[in-house]
Amino acid sequence: MRIECPQCGARDVREFTYLGAAVLADRPDADATTEAWQDYVHLRDNPAGPHDELWHHAMGCSAWLRVRRNTLTHEILTVTMAQEDRT
Ligand SMILES: [Zn+2]
Repeated sequence: MRIECPQCGARDVREFTYLGAAVLADRPDADATTEAWQDYVHLRDNPAGPHDELWHHAMGCSAWLRVRRNTLTHEILTVTMAQEDRT
């Protein structure tokens, strides 16, 4: 599997570290309810199909990427810089 890093181009997946579902980037506010934190820390979808994930280009430019990957085929659908998605 190859991931198209926006800064480095297409690279082998072994250069990257998988962090997990991209919902990790949507952290609740510090004063959020216990239930909101419980959901953030423990609950994850496990989709069969397109899934947004966070990957770190650890052996490249050190960028954090948001990768949309089909979990059935491992096809990479889109790759953006993780910070571009923050509001
Ligand atoms: Zn890179």
